[in-house]
Amino acid sequence: MPTEALPLDRTSLPQGLGAALWRGVRGKCPRCGGTHLFARFLKPVERCRLCGQNWTLHAADDFPPYISILLTGHIMAPVIIEMGLHTGLPGWTMMLIVAALALVLLVGLLQPAKGGVIALQWWLGMHGFAGYAGKVEAGVV
Ligand SMILES: [Zn+2]
Repeated sequence: MPTEALPLDRTSLPQGLGAALWRGVRGKCPRCGGTHLFARFLKPVERCRLCGQNWTLHAADDFPPYISILLTGHIMAPVIIEMGLHTGLPGWTMMLIVAALALVLLVGLLQPAKGGVIALQWWLGMHGFAGYAGKVEAGVV
């Protein structure tokens, strides 16, 4: 199914990959930035209600959880090291704290990661966005 998105003036389109990613990471429509990208926690809206972009064309698959896990590991490693070196907490207490923090980070990073992946796919014209690449529409090729 083609995107059939409404035409936008160039000022509403992101002017680079970074801008598109930032819109997606914040949960905004990567194309217009005017409204929410997600209908539910990890379920994108079918179409942007402002610009009409079809967001069912993405295929983020497992990439957002990989990003979330990678970031959580890199954030938690120094926290774990610092807790081990500078606190006298027993091991089981540290384990509970680390597990709780890791869970919060993992879940908290999932939606921004998925928004970024969807924005990346749209910008580069990947998967269902082939032929409707955001960078082509924005004139940044
Ligand atoms: Zn939009």
